[in-house]
Amino acid sequence: MDIAETIKRLPKLEQHVHIVGSTKPETLMGIIEDSGAKTQFNSIDDIKQFFQYKDFPHFISVYSTVNDCIIDEKYFERITYEMLESDAASNVKHVEAIFSPNDHVRRNLDYGKMLDAVNKGIKRAKRKFGISCTIRLDLVRNYGPETAMKELDWIKKKDDNIVAVDIGGSEEGFPPEPYEKAYKKAKDLGLHLVAHAGEAAGPESVWGVVKTLGVERIGHGTTAVKDPALLKEIREKGIAIETCPVSNLRTGAIKALKEHPIRSFINQGIKVSVNSDDPPMFNTDMNSEYLQLNNQLGFTVDELMRISLDSIETSFLPTKKKAEMREEFLKEYRGIVSRKA
Ligand SMILES: [Zn+2]
Repeated sequence: MDIAETIKRLPKLEQHVHIVGSTKPETLMGIIEDSGAKTQFNSIDDIKQFFQYKDFPHFISVYSTVNDCIIDEKYFERITYEMLESDAASNVKHVEAIFSPNDHVRRNLDYGKMLDAVNKGIKRAKRKFGISCTIRLDLVRNYGPETAMKELDWIKKKDDNIVAVDIGGSEEGFPPEPYEKAYKKAKDLGLHLVAHAGEAAGPESVWGVVKTLGVERIGHGTTAVKDPALLKEIREKGIAIETCPVSNLRTGAIKALKEHPIRSFINQGIKVSVNSDDPPMFNTDMNSEYLQLNNQLGFTVDELMRISLDSIETSFLPTKKKAEMREEFLKEYRGIVSRKA
């Protein structure tokens, strides 16, 4: 088995992938045809062209165009299912997916119906591929702390398979501190705490989510590497970092994959996971993320497997499930390694 095949077969767990950001050009075309949504696209080639990453503002425009086209809650079933289908093709066994409900509630979609559709997609993927998935609610900084509090009330109303909260959106201009109350409320609801930070803003943004929000994991965390005291704080608090290397490359957070700080994090004793973020929009998937770490940063198969095991440990799965998944991963790994030899 060659190295690419070995890496493809490694069992994986994804901690950071956006449901809407996983919409494929083909799916968007299907949604447009089905819904009759008015767009600038005349063909699938137009959409594929539009999906080609140019710069960050263009990415935001792709993302919000997809949001504009989702004019019925039912489309989340297909988008979620296909996200998990793609993860399963990289031998991902469990996904913690990010969903930003207010992006759609403000476009007059119904929260409950959306969550039902997402969970239907999750159940169909589980039956078909055996992959499991839970949801983390992204409160999106741009909507402000009051909206965040309101969104947490939506969760209270039903059992939605939601295990964590997050603040994505624009890091610059929307610092984390005003979300302290919302995070306290989320914690009281029994949710795990995560925040996007250190992707588009410097270490001060990461300090904010560590000190004020009390996060267990940081999404991206890339710029934390500039501040040794911060790295020490992250390690001592046992906070994990969800790295998204290809996403960081595309958005310009790093200039080359070789410059990604993932190794510095690991060398500091910080646990990391590797994730695809918005895969079709960044032209990546979990397999490609692992492969790039091997190609560009010299991670061995053994080291990649260590990342997979750490991703289980820092996941929000129940303790018993973590132990079972660890056994399953190690068993598969032994099979892969013995075949290699
Ligand atoms: Zn993200």
